[in-house]
Amino acid sequence: MNLILFGPPGSGKGTQAKRLVADRGMVQLSTGDMLRAAIAAGSPMGKQVEPIIAAGHLVPDAIVVGLIEERMPEAEATGGAIFDGFPRNVAQAEVLDAMLEARGGRIDLVVCLTVDDGELLGRITERFKEQGRPDDNPETFKARLGAYYAQTAPLLPYYEDQAKLVKVDGMGSIAEVAKAIDAALETMPA
Ligand code: ADP
Repeated sequence: MNLILFGPPGSGKGTQAKRLVADRGMVQLSTGDMLRAAIAAGSPMGKQVEPIIAAGHLVPDAIVVGLIEERMPEAEATGGAIFDGFPRNVAQAEVLDAMLEARGGRIDLVVCLTVDDGELLGRITERFKEQGRPDDNPETFKARLGAYYAQTAPLLPYYEDQAKLVKVDGMGSIAEVAKAIDAALETMPA
């Protein structure tokens, strides 16, 4: 099964993805984590994306598509992929659909975590204080949220048209959201 965890920055995608990995033996494919690893490693690609991420903008599609493609065999060898932070625009979604089709796979479900902007800002402000991720500073966060609404939210009708979209209330506790995601997954054929 291949799942997309969808939602604005700070909606809890990463937290929920990690739990699904532990519970279901799936692989989390987080383009944000992969890009941060490239920055930490100081690779040429890491150097290229660092200022883009610091500004809260999206990095070029070719970079994230390449990162995802590299990890597909690993996901196929297990219970499937949880895409976290990818796709982030319609072009990326189209490439992902084509990539999966060519490999005999598909996206089975898109879970959109809905959280209102005030709550997102509160969570990210907390995370910035605790973890100091540079792009969590309030100014950059506003740019990331802007990119989400302008470029990523148009994916909602894209997946709605494919009848794959399920909206889950992301405002509750981690355990409550986990329960709601599990309920959405129960609707999937085994
Ligand atoms: P969040 O979901 O909390 O915003 P991520 O860790 O998913 O954080 O992403 C951090 C940053 O990495 C984004 O703001 C963007 O600059 C870059 N990024 C991650 N995934 C993508 C993607 N699929 N396409 C373009 N840029 C991406």
